Amino acid sequence: MHDKLTIERLGQNALDVRELQREALLTDEWLALQQAFRWPRITRMLLYRHRIVLELRNQLPQQNIRVSWTRCHFGGTRPWLHCPFCQRRVARLFRGFGGYFCRACCGNPIYESQRRSKKARAYLEAYRLRQRLGGSKPVRDPIRPRPRGMKQKTYDRICARIVSKPTSGPSSTATTKIRGPSNKPSPPNRYGLPSSASARKHRRPYAANFRIT
Ligand SMILES: [Zn+2]
Repeated sequence: MHDKLTIERLGQNALDVRELQREALLTDEWLALQQAFRWPRITRMLLYRHRIVLELRNQLPQQNIRVSWTRCHFGGTRPWLHCPFCQRRVARLFRGFGGYFCRACCGNPIYESQRRSKKARAYLEAYRLRQRLGGSKPVRDPIRPRPRGMKQKTYDRICARIVSKPTSGPSSTATTKIRGPSNKPSPPNRYGLPSSASARKHRRPYAANFRIT
């Protein structure tokens, strides 16, 4: 397997706004996270509804990341990060040289799928289609019945697309690894915070709240 930089590899250390939102870290008051969480290169992180400030290991200037919010289609709002270099609005910022930047500013690493062989890509696509029907990992398995709530038309379309894909998996020499949906719960305290359910209640002992005047 070649050691090319892919989005997936970079993504492991990415700053994902959805994750920050899920952990209730973007609130009306400034939160400070020190060390001990899942971004080893960040020594300190200040978060607020409209701004994130990163202090990076062995690096003097802080990174100042703008956070903006848009209305969702079905109500509510969702946050976005703005690349500190080009201000592009993105969901994730990746760890590049000198800080966190958008995909383009990190040199546009390719997606894992882009480097797969054609056959492996087709296999992966078939696998993903089957996932939409509720699972069944091996592409050789019979197609699952229509899941509750899925329109017959959608189901027929997905089935037709599955049938058009190859039924054999990638050869053993292929570098593709197909992983099923992970049911493993994410380890607690990755952020030095309790799980989001109890985060609000118990935040103070874990992350010092403070205000900037
Ligand atoms: Zn950028």
